[in-house]
Amino acid sequence: MPAAITALIIATIVAPPPTTVVRQVLPSGIHLLVSPRPDARLVAIEIRVRGAGSAHETPDQNGLAHAVEHMLFKGTDSTPAGAFDAQFERMGGEASAQTLRDGTAFRVCVFPERWKDALATWGELLQKPSFREVDWATERTVILREMGVAQSETTRLGLQTLSTVAYPLGDPYSQPLMGSRANVERFTACDLRIFHAKQYGAANLTIAVSGPVTAEEVKAALGPMFAPPAPNSGGAKGEEAEAFRPTAARNAPVSPLAPPELGAGGANMGPTDVPIRAPLFTDEEQTARQLATVYLGFRAPRLQTEPENAAACDTLAVLLARGMGGVLGERLTGDKKLNAISVNAEYLPQTDRALFVLHATGTKRDIGQIEDVIIDELAILKARCAGGDAALEELLEGAKSVVIGQELYQRETVDGEAKYLAYLDMLGAPDGYADKYVERVRAVSVADISRLMGQYLVPAKRSVAVIGLSAIGAAAASSNASGSEAVQ
Ligand SMILES: [Zn+2]
Repeated sequence: MPAAITALIIATIVAPPPTTVVRQVLPSGIHLLVSPRPDARLVAIEIRVRGAGSAHETPDQNGLAHAVEHMLFKGTDSTPAGAFDAQFERMGGEASAQTLRDGTAFRVCVFPERWKDALATWGELLQKPSFREVDWATERTVILREMGVAQSETTRLGLQTLSTVAYPLGDPYSQPLMGSRANVERFTACDLRIFHAKQYGAANLTIAVSGPVTAEEVKAALGPMFAPPAPNSGGAKGEEAEAFRPTAARNAPVSPLAPPELGAGGANMGPTDVPIRAPLFTDEEQTARQLATVYLGFRAPRLQTEPENAAACDTLAVLLARGMGGVLGERLTGDKKLNAISVNAEYLPQTDRALFVLHATGTKRDIGQIEDVIIDELAILKARCAGGDAALEELLEGAKSVVIGQELYQRETVDGEAKYLAYLDMLGAPDGYADKYVERVRAVSVADISRLMGQYLVPAKRSVAVIGLSAIGAAAASSNASGSEAVQ
């Protein structure tokens, strides 16, 4: 893209959205974020339960956060299963939920005149689940089926498999989001109830609301809902009343991990300086796949402590690969001998960890070479950074425009903004992170890119997962140096 056009685009889109977001920690411990948008025609509510993610589970508990997420929609003692979905629909919205490594997310977007009802419904759903044995028996089957489906979804399987080698052995972040089948089969409704009572306290909640509302209105509506119960007020079930008493021990945000130690190079993920590879799947598991996808993971700087580097990582991701563009996209499509069909780069910040992930899809036969080409292109880009390359400067400006555009696009809608605000709060992003983001992206220089590549995108320190290639298939193609490297 010509520099003049790039400059023009930047000039027209850099104005960040007005910074009217109100952030407060309520007496109950709830993190409240309200973005008043008087002209919006919907209200978005995003709730994140920090502390109810798969990274907060012990190996024995792995899968409980996801099971609880499912079971919360199965009603309270006074509402039957399915009632909540119908209630949200009448308010004009469709509720959804998602289990993540750092927490569980719940979201809905409703008509402005119904947002208080929606908030009240979330309050009931999150605080008073009945966890009936009979419902769990049914839902367990649904979850086991979902786990089977996830095995066939390349993205979910790829990131999960990469996680098993990208983090140190025994690290909670390496656990599967949905747990093991054995765990899910073993869990009882009582296990779910105990996990819920421990992790769903008000002090673990982040509530973000965006739409024609004010912070005062939201606070008033929340007031009676998540208030700690008065002493001895009891409740139908002692255990549930207990769950929302904000004792420090119970409701302290759960963070089982100290930030990882950095090696001298700052990017040492494993004990050695050779790539760590996830074992390949068996032939039986992979026969249905026509294509293979290689995932490369690199330790990345944490967004919480290095917000400038986080902005640079987002920019580097776009510079490297986006659709079939970016330097990796161009190199792979330009190579007629390789059948590569897509390549992508992503910076994935988490509460206690961050990863930079590259993944490319192509024919099974070519996947080893595709990996080699990516590694080669990283070295070329690093050399270009050092060489005062004018074309690279221009590419970087283009990438920055794309990143800024993505950010503005995301925050344009009420649901996009509520999701973004709650996400940043769950991660523990520093104050004003969102407001300074555009400015930080604009400041990213070739020197920053060069530094990130030298410190983090070190080929020898990558972790690798290949989906779609079985051990037998890999042995047949072992003339390829990269594809034949030792498999863990
Ligand atoms: Zn699920």
